Amino acid sequence: MSTPFASHWIDARAVRSESQAVAQSIDPNTGAVVGEFADGGAHEAELAIAAARRAFDFGDWAQQPRLRAQVLLAFADRLEQRQRELAGLMARETGKLLKAAMGELAGSVSELRFYAGLARTIFGRTTEVEPGALSLLTREPAGVAGIIVPWNAPAILLVRSLAPAMAAGCTSVLKLAPQSALFQNAMMQCAADIDALPAGVVNWFAETGSGGGEALVASPDVDVISFTGSSAVGQRIMAAAAPTLKRLNLELGGKAPCVVFQDADPAAIAPQLAAAATIASGQQCTAADRVLVHESRLEPMRDALIRAFRDMVVGPADAPESQMGPLIDIASRDRIVRLVEESGRYGEVLLNGGIPDDAPAGGAFIRPSLVAVGDLDSPVVQEEFFGPVLNLESFRDESEAVARANVGRYGLSASVWTHDGARAQRVARALRSGTVWINNHNKLLAEAETGGYRASGYGRLHGAEAMMEFLETKHIYQEVGRLQPLER
Ligand code: NAP
Repeated sequence: MSTPFASHWIDARAVRSESQAVAQSIDPNTGAVVGEFADGGAHEAELAIAAARRAFDFGDWAQQPRLRAQVLLAFADRLEQRQRELAGLMARETGKLLKAAMGELAGSVSELRFYAGLARTIFGRTTEVEPGALSLLTREPAGVAGIIVPWNAPAILLVRSLAPAMAAGCTSVLKLAPQSALFQNAMMQCAADIDALPAGVVNWFAETGSGGGEALVASPDVDVISFTGSSAVGQRIMAAAAPTLKRLNLELGGKAPCVVFQDADPAAIAPQLAAAATIASGQQCTAADRVLVHESRLEPMRDALIRAFRDMVVGPADAPESQMGPLIDIASRDRIVRLVEESGRYGEVLLNGGIPDDAPAGGAFIRPSLVAVGDLDSPVVQEEFFGPVLNLESFRDESEAVARANVGRYGLSASVWTHDGARAQRVARALRSGTVWINNHNKLLAEAETGGYRASGYGRLHGAEAMMEFLETKHIYQEVGRLQPLER
């Protein structure tokens, strides 16, 4: 098999970097080279922005909702046809479990079809504000969208920004994540190959630095930035976008609490919480990070979580028996080793997962860890670890549970575990979080908006509201007068 190579895609052409720079993509399962990609920067970003600008200003993409729907449906069909092959590449390049990669691609296909429908239903409204005076409120595409995405869910995170941008009639420039550039490039070929897609409507580049991303954010020719990534980079993007006052959609970090009441059975739900904490090896913004359990259930919950983590099969992403794959790279693995050790300073390390003895030398494998840190000011409670580490805390009553869950700057996702329906609803309403699951965790759907409160960002992706990130509302006022009544 030939080594994969990913070029940039600008104005419907595969383009190498002007500098001829090339970067390697590494398999976190083995440390082997998966392939290479053109390593771009500000120059490639500028070329892509110019192509997207031309396509928006001089093309008729914005006026062709049926064409947009047709392209999105064709994109979905091609992705579905290549699902198995692409899932294999995702598993190799990011360490995501093959079955999870298959699921993520199925979700991406569903999401593309969802937005294909919405492309044809962008309605405005009209009101007669005074006799014969009309206010028309119309929706128009915002213009050129700059889309910056990470690697941890490389298909769905890209599609959930790109699909509504395309449906709305925007043209786009994507910055692929360097850790998943081969996969994202291969996936995007499913769009590039569509004859009906006009040149310049979708462009992308990859880079190992952030010069291209910074150029996107600073450019006066980019109208909206949709960014998924860490809160620290989100803050930098917000500051860098200020001079051009461009619109921002920021989907940032999280520190998800799971609130478990006394009527929940620890033995039954611990495996679900363990799975929620180790989804994408804990490298998911919505992954469970904290379990807050009623004090009467602390011990059984601790024992059940330790059992669930001990039983978990950690192994290569493509092995059918694996329940958790490697982290994205060795540096992330070593960072998690250090964070677990440091957690002991603030409380107790109940289970130190550590690096498995039988892990392949070049692989970034680590087993999940359980810690118990009650200090709400500690980094264990306040900071996003982005790895398979769960903190166990306890509470006395409902009010304390909510107060504990709401500490910290993040507000992306949370879950409530109880069979008391009224309590579940009461607590869900009190949690300052963009998503709350009841007796579940990590359910993400094409139909349902997600997004953050506070430092987890703003704006919403998925669902019908994602379209609003890429649409402007225009008011057109006209006095059309009234018909003269017929003379009788
Ligand atoms: P990151 O470090 O913030 O990087 C995200 C992207 O931003 C990368 O492509 C990065 O490029 C680029 N970037 C870095 N500096 C930039 C700048 N100054 N201007 C423009 N772009 C810049 O995040 P990550 O570690 O890849 O991803 C993990 C984070 O994403 C976690 O915090 C996670 O919670 C969050 N996340 C949030 C959601 C959500 O829905 N809220 C979903 C998934 C992930 P380089 O890598 O080339 O620097």
